[in-house]
Amino acid sequence: MTDRPLLMIPGPIEVSDAVFRATCVRPPSHVAPDLIAAFGDALRGMRSVWLAGPNSQPFVVAGGGTLAMETAATNLVDPGQSALVIDTGYFGDRMAEMLRRRGANVTLIEAPPGETVSAERVGDALRQGEHAAVFATHVDTSTGVRVDARGIAEAARQHGVLSCFDGVCATAAERFEQRAWGADVYLTASQKAIGLPAGLALWVCSARATDARAALKQLPPLTLDWHKWQPIMEAYEAGKPSYFSTPATTLIGALHIGLRELVPDDLHAATRMEARVAAHQRAADAMRAAWSVLGLKLLPTHVDHTANTLSALYYPDGVDASVLGAIKQAGAIVAGGLHADLKTRYFRVGHMGDVVGRPEALLRTVQAVATGLRAVGHTADVRAAVTAAESVLKP
Ligand SMILES: *Cc1c(COP(=O)(O)O)cnc(C)c1O
Repeated sequence: MTDRPLLMIPGPIEVSDAVFRATCVRPPSHVAPDLIAAFGDALRGMRSVWLAGPNSQPFVVAGGGTLAMETAATNLVDPGQSALVIDTGYFGDRMAEMLRRRGANVTLIEAPPGETVSAERVGDALRQGEHAAVFATHVDTSTGVRVDARGIAEAARQHGVLSCFDGVCATAAERFEQRAWGADVYLTASQKAIGLPAGLALWVCSARATDARAALKQLPPLTLDWHKWQPIMEAYEAGKPSYFSTPATTLIGALHIGLRELVPDDLHAATRMEARVAAHQRAADAMRAAWSVLGLKLLPTHVDHTANTLSALYYPDGVDASVLGAIKQAGAIVAGGLHADLKTRYFRVGHMGDVVGRPEALLRTVQAVATGLRAVGHTADVRAAVTAAESVLKP
């Protein structure tokens, strides 16, 4: 087990032992009593992890983050309506393209790679034009940039505009309080910060969001239609089976286990989530302390909008993507660049999910990155980098 390189890309990620075991079962029927109970409890668990209100509606559908994004694009906005898209990287571009295909008039608020878009800028844009909804990427995985989700959700509320946040690289790791902030949709995929294998699209809608679907003039494609899925979710939560399209039953068993590791009981969800976010913050601080020792520069331009879930790092002078192989050789799989303008100039290290509670995994990653850099000729003090991270993790 220890010879296996750690999977430290920004998703899929290392999962906990309990989640791993939960995936190693014979496929359950979608109407089996145990599956129904697990499904219902997973939906309740989502409300807790999202810190969403009792009237919110969680959805679990086989698919990925992109599918969750597309349900939002097609259920919140009618063709001809205007949508504001905050674009902090690759996934903002994708959301804009989906909305254009839906026939929406898209206004982009763009940030140069590494910079964020402030809630003030969003507020100004909302004052200037009439929009049905605002879409933002909580953490853009291509840049490692986080937006002020709270400020943006509150600005949207003030203007009576719906807000939708892509939390694929953030949910269950970065602070997000759906109910308190008045955010309408918070969506994610199973393989990233929430810590499961790939295969599930997950999102929670406010009552305002499901009302917006009810008011649509142009129906969404059948498989993306919240109105087709909502009765299924309601049935499972009420302890009854129901069918629209077969759920990913094995993954739903794992989702149930994974969510209950995060929030064993719904009453104390806020405290548990606060601790989980703090653990990600500490892990990110530790990794950044190591990167600084190694002379690596972060792509985000300010620590205040740097994600806690991953590090996007410029290659030092004289180093290119060939270092990724050397890092894997040294014990950790990390990812190349994703942003079209900068792809070949940086790489990404994920630090989210179960690993944030495993200092030895984080330190092994630092050691692997430092060793890989040395192997390709960069001057790197492996020991000093590990010590810098260790002093944050084990003060
Ligand atoms: C990975 C990712 C997506 C897309 O998710 P898939 O499961 O690959 O479809 C969307 N948004 C963000 C922020 C992501 O990190």
